[in-house]
Amino acid sequence: MTTLAEIASCLSGYDPNALHIVQAQEFIARLVPVVREAETLPIRDALGRVLANDVVSAIDVPAHDNSAMDGYALRGSDLMCDAPTALDVVGTGFAGSVGSQDVLAGQCFRIMTGAVMPPGLDTVVPQELVEADDGKVTIPAGVVQPGDNRRLAGEDLAAGEVALHEGRTLRPADIGMLASMGIAEVAVRRKLRVAFFSTGNELRSIGEPLEAGCVYDSNRYTLWAMLSRLGVEITDMGLVRDDPALLEAAFLQAANTADAVITSGGVSVGEADHTRQVMAKLGDVMFWRIAMRPGRPMAIGKITSSGRDAILFGLPGNPVAVMVTFYALVRDALLAMSGASAQPLLMLKAACVKPIRKRPGRTEYQRGIVTRLEDGSLQVAITGSQGSGILRSMSEANGLVVLHHEQGNVDAGAMVDVLPFDGLI
Ligand code: AMP
Ligand code: MG
Repeated sequence: MTTLAEIASCLSGYDPNALHIVQAQEFIARLVPVVREAETLPIRDALGRVLANDVVSAIDVPAHDNSAMDGYALRGSDLMCDAPTALDVVGTGFAGSVGSQDVLAGQCFRIMTGAVMPPGLDTVVPQELVEADDGKVTIPAGVVQPGDNRRLAGEDLAAGEVALHEGRTLRPADIGMLASMGIAEVAVRRKLRVAFFSTGNELRSIGEPLEAGCVYDSNRYTLWAMLSRLGVEITDMGLVRDDPALLEAAFLQAANTADAVITSGGVSVGEADHTRQVMAKLGDVMFWRIAMRPGRPMAIGKITSSGRDAILFGLPGNPVAVMVTFYALVRDALLAMSGASAQPLLMLKAACVKPIRKRPGRTEYQRGIVTRLEDGSLQVAITGSQGSGILRSMSEANGLVVLHHEQGNVDAGAMVDVLPFDGLI
């Protein structure tokens, strides 16, 4: 079993006190195991789940050559190049009927979309392009080329080919594709189990009175929401007071059943509480200071309970830092643990409305509002105050402006990278 120290020794220039975000991502990718267990589900229940095996089509889809249009099926070789082509109509085919009728040279066949092409015919002329009169059609020169408007057997999916690969997170089109192959059930990986709790004596739960010096625990709710979007199985373990025995019991209980345990708060160096001590006692855990803003402190490691390991993500307490570290470091790790193939987020480029002050040497995630201008280009404005405790900056934003590690000050009008929230999870 790999220890954290072994992983660290593989990364050149690894410095836990000023960790480059990319190194943190790489470290975590090496640390996390993949869930192997699978279950079989009806395809509708498999939406959003991760395929456990390749899916091979047993049939050609479509099963026959068929028409892509309502019109007339004909032989491409009958079409005249420079003059109208006149053909006799000798029958009609509807979707679902099998066009076994012989159609001879100089003849054509009235055909509807989806109807099987009669043998020997390879072209369909759409009905609106022809003149039909008394059992004959006349096709103007040049309106159709041989082979047009015919769907080939197996052009969507060929029998024996892998239609969907293991690790695929099933989306609406995939569910439809499974149905098109006549597949009723698929094997998917079991859902990842994620437990989480908040730590901090100043925190109060919704419903409790807010005493002087206290704040309501919001992180558990943003975490719940982010995890829900990710499609994992969630265990909310509530708020755990800053008491070594309570913290230890919570960690052990979480690690006993969950694949991953996420906490917020109590991981910064100056912490007076017991969270760090208990984490270090129960597993192989490192405390990082990541070169990022917001979200500098973080704990990462494995907590062992009853002989099984759970991956620990000890996130900082500040509400914006929780969200940013989740998107920057936890999301991909949880997807990888779920067995999903990598789904890199799409990054947009937008022109920055105002200059941004930025020091090279850390990655910053500023909250921004992206808008599309009349000429179709994108611009981004930073939302008001960027304090890591100001959750409103996240709520108002529709994307994260990513200012990379080496990047310095940004001039007004300069292009910056933005991770849009839509589609982020
Ligand atoms: P910490 O990382 O524990 O030093 O916490 C940093 C800041 O985040 C403090 O102001 C905490 O009060 C605040 N904080 C910690 N946990 C939560 C939480 N679950 N909900 C809201 N704020 C929190
Ligand atoms: Mg604290």
